[in-house]
Amino acid sequence: MTTTNWKSAKGDNDKGVWAIFPRLCKGCGLCIQKCPKKCITWSEELGVYGTPRVHADMGECIVCGICQMVCPDCAIRVEKK
Ligand code: SF4
Ligand code: SF4
Repeated sequence: MTTTNWKSAKGDNDKGVWAIFPRLCKGCGLCIQKCPKKCITWSEELGVYGTPRVHADMGECIVCGICQMVCPDCAIRVEKK
């Protein structure tokens, strides 16, 4: 039996923490479209289907949580500090 790696990749700033679960990201790009700060971009790391996953520029992120709300696969977790 294989086990799934649920490890997240995190970034933070003084407002909060942003985390992506690469094993859930299917690379649809919805979060990139909806981010009001346009601070989500494609990563060089791959997500679950071999497409690029996303990452957030924490220098710009306002931790609004919109990306978490719109992601159809619950691949993003945002926590305010
Ligand atoms: S909306 Fe979710 S699944 Fe789509 S690219 Fe963003 S994190 Fe990945
Ligand atoms: S929390 Fe808001 S500002 Fe930060 S990456 Fe998500 S949508 Fe963009």
